[in-house]
Amino acid sequence: MEKIQLDRLRGIAVGAVVGDALGMPLEFHPPRPVYELVTEMIPGPLPAGSFTDDTEMALALAESLLAHLPLDAEDLVQRFCDWYQSNPSDMGIHISQVLRQVIHGTSWQEASHSVQAMDPDSASNGSLMRAWPLSIARWRHPDKLAEESRLQSEVTHIHPDCVSGCTFFTLLLAELVGQSEPLPPDAALRAAITTAAEQAQFHEEFHLIIDLAAVRSRELLANTGWVRHTIEASLWALLTTRSFEEALVQAVNLGNDADTTGAVTGAIAGALYGLSGIPQRWKDAIHGEYPIGTGKIWLCSDFIDLADRLNALNVPE
Ligand SMILES: [Mg+2]
Repeated sequence: MEKIQLDRLRGIAVGAVVGDALGMPLEFHPPRPVYELVTEMIPGPLPAGSFTDDTEMALALAESLLAHLPLDAEDLVQRFCDWYQSNPSDMGIHISQVLRQVIHGTSWQEASHSVQAMDPDSASNGSLMRAWPLSIARWRHPDKLAEESRLQSEVTHIHPDCVSGCTFFTLLLAELVGQSEPLPPDAALRAAITTAAEQAQFHEEFHLIIDLAAVRSRELLANTGWVRHTIEASLWALLTTRSFEEALVQAVNLGNDADTTGAVTGAIAGALYGLSGIPQRWKDAIHGEYPIGTGKIWLCSDFIDLADRLNALNVPE
């Protein structure tokens, strides 16, 4: 395996966590004025550098994959329920509704469908924010990656936009890791976006969001918890900047669902610029406890180790 690919795989894991922690203090706030952008890890509801539910749920997925491959939906949903019952500091509304039903004995299939039926147009980013471990475990196997990305979403989010959003995101990460031709970052990103969008089975409208992301003006990016907004804002941040640091600063300073947009942008930027492209001061700051209440603290080196263990699940071709 090439050194650059390992750097990119590790970049996905560390990048996602860095983005989550950088966005944490800006979540639910309006966009920052452009002359007052936050560029450092600062405290918010949690101490500076803390990761949130986005990373906690990703860790549940990662540990499920390490225990069972192919992805076992029953095992995954059980780990999500354990997390729900560990009293996390933050949780999406849709996810809490689904998991509460599962804990009371409903199957995840039924729970996922009945919560969607209460609000048929709801398509939140809760399955997107946690999906990156699949890309590391399956980057050499795009067909399996696509199939398991769909299942990974359906466990809690069955809306077609959530399902194809997850598939697009995980395929995009895998494309970036696997690129063998040395391309400049903007060309590499554009090529990977095109390939992943073709494979993700989007609606026409979703293609338009992707195609237009780079030319959106900052003022028009709502950056809510809607999966379309998260993908649009992340691609905008990535396509209009030239480094991991710049992309993340632009993404999280949109405020609103800043931590999730940070996590998604961070995973993609990590795959694009590699672990070596992530500012050291941010890598040094990330930390958090998982599983909650066990005293197990995750630092940057633990996420690097996790990426290596997930990567080892790929069968080399
Ligand atoms: Mg969060």
